[in-house]
Amino acid sequence: MTGVYNPLLVCLSLVVAFLASYTAMELSGGLNALANAKRRPLWLLGGAVSMGVGIWSMHFIGMLAFSLPIEVGYDLSTTAASLVLAVSVSLIALATASRGALSQRRLCVAGTIMGLGVAAMHFTGMHAMQMSPEIEYTNWKVALSVGVAIVASMAALWLAFTLRTSDVDNLVAKRLGAAVIMAVAITGMHYIGMSAANFAAGSLCRSGGKLDANWLALVVTVTSLTVLVGTLGLLGFYTSSLSISLKRANRQLHYLGTHDALTNLPNRQQLSLHIAQAVAECARRTSPFAVLFIDLDGFKSVNDSLGHGVGDDLLQVCAERLRQDLRHTDMVARLGGDEFVIVVENVAEMSSAVAVANGVLQRLSQDIVVNGLPLRVSASIGIAFYPRDGGDADELLHSADAAMYAAKQSGRNTFRVFEPQMNHTALKSLILQRDLHRALSDGQLSMSFQPKFSVASQSVTGVEALIRWRHPELGEIPPLEFIPIAERSGLIVEIGDWVLQEVCRNIALWDAQGLPAICVAVNLSPIQFNVPDLVARINGLIGAAGVDPCRLMFEITETTAMQNTEKTSRTIEALQSRGYTVAIDDFGTGYSSLGYLQRFRFDQIKIDGSFMRDLDDGGQRGSALLSAVVTLARALQIEVVAEGVETESQFRALGELACDQVQGFLLSRPLPATEFLAFLRCAADRVVSSERACAASTG
Ligand code: C2E
Ligand code: CA
Ligand code: CA
Repeated sequence: MTGVYNPLLVCLSLVVAFLASYTAMELSGGLNALANAKRRPLWLLGGAVSMGVGIWSMHFIGMLAFSLPIEVGYDLSTTAASLVLAVSVSLIALATASRGALSQRRLCVAGTIMGLGVAAMHFTGMHAMQMSPEIEYTNWKVALSVGVAIVASMAALWLAFTLRTSDVDNLVAKRLGAAVIMAVAITGMHYIGMSAANFAAGSLCRSGGKLDANWLALVVTVTSLTVLVGTLGLLGFYTSSLSISLKRANRQLHYLGTHDALTNLPNRQQLSLHIAQAVAECARRTSPFAVLFIDLDGFKSVNDSLGHGVGDDLLQVCAERLRQDLRHTDMVARLGGDEFVIVVENVAEMSSAVAVANGVLQRLSQDIVVNGLPLRVSASIGIAFYPRDGGDADELLHSADAAMYAAKQSGRNTFRVFEPQMNHTALKSLILQRDLHRALSDGQLSMSFQPKFSVASQSVTGVEALIRWRHPELGEIPPLEFIPIAERSGLIVEIGDWVLQEVCRNIALWDAQGLPAICVAVNLSPIQFNVPDLVARINGLIGAAGVDPCRLMFEITETTAMQNTEKTSRTIEALQSRGYTVAIDDFGTGYSSLGYLQRFRFDQIKIDGSFMRDLDDGGQRGSALLSAVVTLARALQIEVVAEGVETESQFRALGELACDQVQGFLLSRPLPATEFLAFLRCAADRVVSSERACAASTG
């Protein structure tokens, strides 16, 4: 008995095979993307059902395409078994192609299982016809069809695995092509299997029942196409929403990796990239650019004394101010801590980078209130230019950093443009550290004295003792350069003792010459101030020299005072109860709060020299601070000293503001001990002696 093929249904089976193959490809890809998702098992199962239905439909339509000259029916349970086989095969296929590595062994094992499964599905399906007598198969054709099924399965697995990632070029076209190959292979296997079947003459179909093959084919086709297209649609929707959220997560990850979490500014990595781009750009257009290295002054002590919360808020405000007024091509990045970098592009002239630096200094100096605390910040800025000061990000940042260090050395709240000798600063500080020990024992240190004057009468109200170091090879080393080194090495305590002894020795000398009893101010660095037995130590030295405590004033900076406010209060009280006076130094450069003036009973406030420059510029900053401080100081009976007064106009402005005293180059530079002795002799009748204070403290 021979049958005939309905060409339309054969074509239809090919179409279904193609769609099932394509769905398999898409599913492998989708499942791969879902590798770690919670829904993966669900998708795997659903995908296997859909793909199984597809393969099975192709096979069933193929069977329907073949019509025998007898009535044919299908046993339901056997048909269902073939469907289950198809779904199981699909499950194995999808699980293999969508996960892990596809080793040759894995490909062979999975491909063989799949091929056998497909063949089993096919012959189970044929068996559902329940022919009597049983269908006889031509062995070699059966073997061939199984062989084709296995090879087709391996090819399908390999293709699906290779095309499972989304980074393949022309992915859709390749998947479509692969689906065509797979469809041809699967239908080929099917029709070889069909041709292996020999129906004996007079065979009967025990499943019986008149079924219209065309209708059945149509129903199966529509069902399977619906399932397959539905699966593709669902998968497309799910993976695209997944890829959107994946993209979003990636973007976020990228952002986190390239930006600083606190300030949202680009981080060091992003900065290096930006500079590299600027270098490349520069090579094309020869437009130099500048790198500004910005370090906040005294930030560490804000953090230490007021807590990280306040420190963080302060950094955010500073970041915001750095961003202001920059062109969109310029970049602000945070390197970490209190270090920021601005890249200024297209700086045809050096002055444009300098203008940016000045703008930054000005914006940072505006009042900041954090948590109700009025804080004040300033910054030190180093500027380096490409290509002059470095050829890449590392070199440029290094140069700008060295220039920033130079800005710190020259008194902070300022900027410096890189110069080649600045590179030696690190080396130099090593040399200085090594030589500082010898400086103390070899008599390289000395004291200078800078008088303070009354604004109203120009009489001499006191003097500040300032240390000097004359290095045998390097010459004069400014205290701002070696004091920090002495602090880091711990030598500052010994140096501090020496300063005090030297001051006492000079006082004794002046007294011996019958000069007025002038009060000498001695600077205490933070490390010295925090020495546990500070007051006892000072008393010991002063007592040994036979000097009256009222002849000495100790200057501590705001930042020193703020490190541990409780301890500061106690130390100040202890010093004052012994008859010493205490001044707050560099007022306005830390996180000045007038509230601190009430809290610590200072005898004198020394307003930082940076405010004097403002008086000259006619700026509001200096006069506003000065008049506020003067008003409060009057009420609290604290003397106000303006430091760094260099010009007549500053002096006049201070007079109008009713400031008590001035200290600065205008009236006298710091003088070496011998010169000061001469000065004191000349000014003897204009010296306000500290005897009154002494009388008050002893009385
Ligand atoms: P300071 O305590 O603020 O000292 C005042 C500084 O301003 C001195 O710098 C002084 O020379 C300088 N100065 C005075 N008048 C003017 C002026 O009109 N214009 C300008 N531009 N500057 C003026 P110097 O001597 O270089 O000392 C720098 C810092 O080093 C001092 O700042 C102080 O913090 C520290 N220092 C100096 N001597 C000692 C010391 O014996 N012990 C400790 N611990 N620190 C010291
Ligand atoms: Ca001082
Ligand atoms: Ca000062």
